[in-house]
Amino acid sequence: MTSYDYDIGIIGGGAAGLTVASGAAQLGAKTLLVEKEKALGGDCLHYGCVPSKTLIRTAQVYHLMKNSRAFGLPAIETRPVDFQAVKKRIQSVIETIQKHDSEERFCSLGAKVQFGEPSFVDEHSVRLNGNTVSARNWVIATGSSPSVPAIEGLDKTPYITNKEIFTLDQLPSSMVILGAGPIAIEMAQAFCRLGTQVSVVQRSDQILTKEDKDMADEIMKVLGSEGVTFHLNASVLRVKDLGSEKELVLKDGEEAPISLKAEKILVAMGRDPNVKALGLEGIGVEFDRKGIKVDDRMRTTRKHIYAAGDITGTYQFTHAAGYEGGIVVSNAIFHLPRRANYTFLPWCTYTDPELASIGMNEKRAREAGMEYSIWTEPFKSNDRSLAQGEQAGKIKLLLDKSEKPLGVQILGPQAGELVSEWVAVLNGKVKLSTLATAVHPYPTLGEINKRVAGTLLSQKVFSERVRKGLKFFFNLKGRACGGDSPKI
Ligand SMILES: Cc1cc2nc3c(=O)[nH]c(=O)nc-3n(C[C@H](O)[C@H](O)[C@H](O)COP(=O)(O)OP(=O)(O)OC[C@H]3O[C@@H](n4cnc5c(N)ncnc54)[C@H](O)[C@@H]3O)c2cc1C
Repeated sequence: MTSYDYDIGIIGGGAAGLTVASGAAQLGAKTLLVEKEKALGGDCLHYGCVPSKTLIRTAQVYHLMKNSRAFGLPAIETRPVDFQAVKKRIQSVIETIQKHDSEERFCSLGAKVQFGEPSFVDEHSVRLNGNTVSARNWVIATGSSPSVPAIEGLDKTPYITNKEIFTLDQLPSSMVILGAGPIAIEMAQAFCRLGTQVSVVQRSDQILTKEDKDMADEIMKVLGSEGVTFHLNASVLRVKDLGSEKELVLKDGEEAPISLKAEKILVAMGRDPNVKALGLEGIGVEFDRKGIKVDDRMRTTRKHIYAAGDITGTYQFTHAAGYEGGIVVSNAIFHLPRRANYTFLPWCTYTDPELASIGMNEKRAREAGMEYSIWTEPFKSNDRSLAQGEQAGKIKLLLDKSEKPLGVQILGPQAGELVSEWVAVLNGKVKLSTLATAVHPYPTLGEINKRVAGTLLSQKVFSERVRKGLKFFFNLKGRACGGDSPKI
């Protein structure tokens, strides 16, 4: 039997790689984790989820301060934002979480951590820092990087991406954001709230294109009311560096080209897989523009080499990367053929209001040719929502022909938290009648989950047929007030 230096080698120390490393090492596999940056943690910790959610919270507090009168409080004279102080807060949150993702912690779990950029020399070995290291199984978890579009002049014009935006020296007075996906839209609202004049340029007629249009349009309305300008159906013709400002010439619709000038350009137009320099071509691991090709057990076209996380181009979220990392551990270490199933993978865009999604939305149901019915409930009918002064949005439940839930979308306060109840309901195949009759604390935002399920149930319980039956069996006398039956 061939002997290798390690049972498993993992390339990339982000959410996916760390999950595999900790699982494999704790199960007793001799584990190597290789990371090219100076610290573990990946995009999520350093340039993604953590800094963005910290910034969003800061922007939210500033927004509330500026809107104190809406809560019956005196108006506050707010001073301009000092981005150095905001940056310091972001760094301190990253540093706190970094301890959990430290080299020492992984060593204590039993995994060897090495820093460097490996390249495959054969299908079991990589060249790393001048040495050749072999492993029985490899996992490629190198993540993704911002895609930079081929726009005339962009290569000669300074621009920023998610890698630079959280460490700017000062708050930009103005910013044009190219793209309207979750990263773009979260940053648009946060920077606008902090005091930057923000414009969003989007190729299609909708922001957050994976979401249903009615939900995405509602977010656009909120951001518009806060001061973000949107250019939809727009293509950027050219970009020019004017020194302290950058100019973008764009065409939206039939009108003549327009010129936008801004201090910063944020490029947020999707992600490219980090495949360069890994030497994958030489070992038969196939990939395309989207990422490395994997089967549902996360195996690449070389079955002993796995890929997980953003690198596969499937669902580019930290929790998806962690989930896929777990699938790799099952298959590579336990040798159990566990398969990835994304049917009820939730996600959330952390705008205010948040937009959370699980299962099918209308767009995906239509694409799949499914028949569905929709049940909605607005947040303006939720008592807690009213008390909080957060009334925008609704919950939307999609049912199939046999009234089984296909998916849920929540646009509203703390939607990312509220969707967790649906994670349990949908994965646990809990009946909607159970959710509708389970007692939820009052007044909570979570009552909206019970209420939307209850609407469906009440339509059946309070039907004309049930009324007639009860009248017949128990001799009920019927309505005491008003002529018509109530509308349900
Ligand atoms: C601004 C922003 C906000 C986000 N917000 C959220 C959110 O709120 N919720 C959410 O779920 N997701 C969010 N994401 C997405 C999330 O960050 C990613 O899905 C997640 O980080 C993917 O994990 P990963 O392990 O696949 O890749 P990464 O975390 O990127 O880790 C890959 C690691 O591999 C290393 N690497 C790359 N190439 C090599 C090489 N050749 N050799 C060795 N090491 C290498 C990298 O340095 C990195 O450490 C956000 C992303 C961005 C950009």
